[in-house]
Amino acid sequence: MLDPCFEVLDKRFAGYVMGNVHIDVLASDIGLRWSEGPVWFGDGRYLLWSDIPNNRIMRWDETDGSVSVYRNPSNYTNGHTRDRQGRLVSCEHGGRRVSRTEYDGRVTVLADSYNGKRLNSPNDVVVKSDDTVWFTDPSYGILSEYEGHQSEPEQDGCHVYRFDPKSGTLQAIATDFDKPNGIAFSPDETLLYVADTGATHTPNGPKHIRRFQVRDDGTLAGGEVFADCTFGLFDGFRLDHHGNIWTSAGDGVHCYAPDGALIGKIKVPEVVANVCFGGVKKNRLFICATTSLRSVYLNTRGVQTP
Ligand code: MG
Repeated sequence: MLDPCFEVLDKRFAGYVMGNVHIDVLASDIGLRWSEGPVWFGDGRYLLWSDIPNNRIMRWDETDGSVSVYRNPSNYTNGHTRDRQGRLVSCEHGGRRVSRTEYDGRVTVLADSYNGKRLNSPNDVVVKSDDTVWFTDPSYGILSEYEGHQSEPEQDGCHVYRFDPKSGTLQAIATDFDKPNGIAFSPDETLLYVADTGATHTPNGPKHIRRFQVRDDGTLAGGEVFADCTFGLFDGFRLDHHGNIWTSAGDGVHCYAPDGALIGKIKVPEVVANVCFGGVKKNRLFICATTSLRSVYLNTRGVQTP
């Protein structure tokens, strides 16, 4: 029997969920204010995620289910990913930068300014197979003291950036967003999906995901609206190997097929901010939901690096 947390809106979704599966609550009642930015470390069998207002990165251990603090203060990190060498890459609201944690624990700055001016507050990040680092830079982390340090923006807008660690070059690759947020590639990296959550501060503002074609030289084409959010906002998301988008929303996780159809939901009783796939088979979806970390097994596998 299918758990009532699964809402099947299209028969395609029924193939990705299974009976006798439920949502696990992996962490709760530990003072989490806003869970965000999950990232899976298969080699260590643990998951890291941000608790942004508490200025800390948390760690859940798959081997014994324990939860601990990985880094505090964390510079108010938000989204995380791993580069192709397996290193942790983090968006820091407080540092207004994208950083990389080296194997020995030192933190290296990848990008903190563009055209000689400080970035706003990098939000979410993904690394392409050519090692380039793609991230969004909305102003959320400098609008208040709650999730960073309140400050005036120096950039002329909130852009999407591409950083090439080989040349050290930072390029604004999309400059027509209100508040760019979640970001992820299609499995073959020919498409880039980017959320815009401008509706948080602009009446009738964007609350959608846009889709771009990725050219060989790293520039983008297209950029049409792929999906409008039907409940709350899309924040962060990840794709499975079929090209489906598993995205956060106000009432849980929404699943979109590559053709843009909302095919199903995983209902969660808290607002979801971000997700990632993990587990040795990459078939376990980890869900950052406000005051909790949850997970659910699916009949699909994530596109997860490395
Ligand atoms: Mg985000």
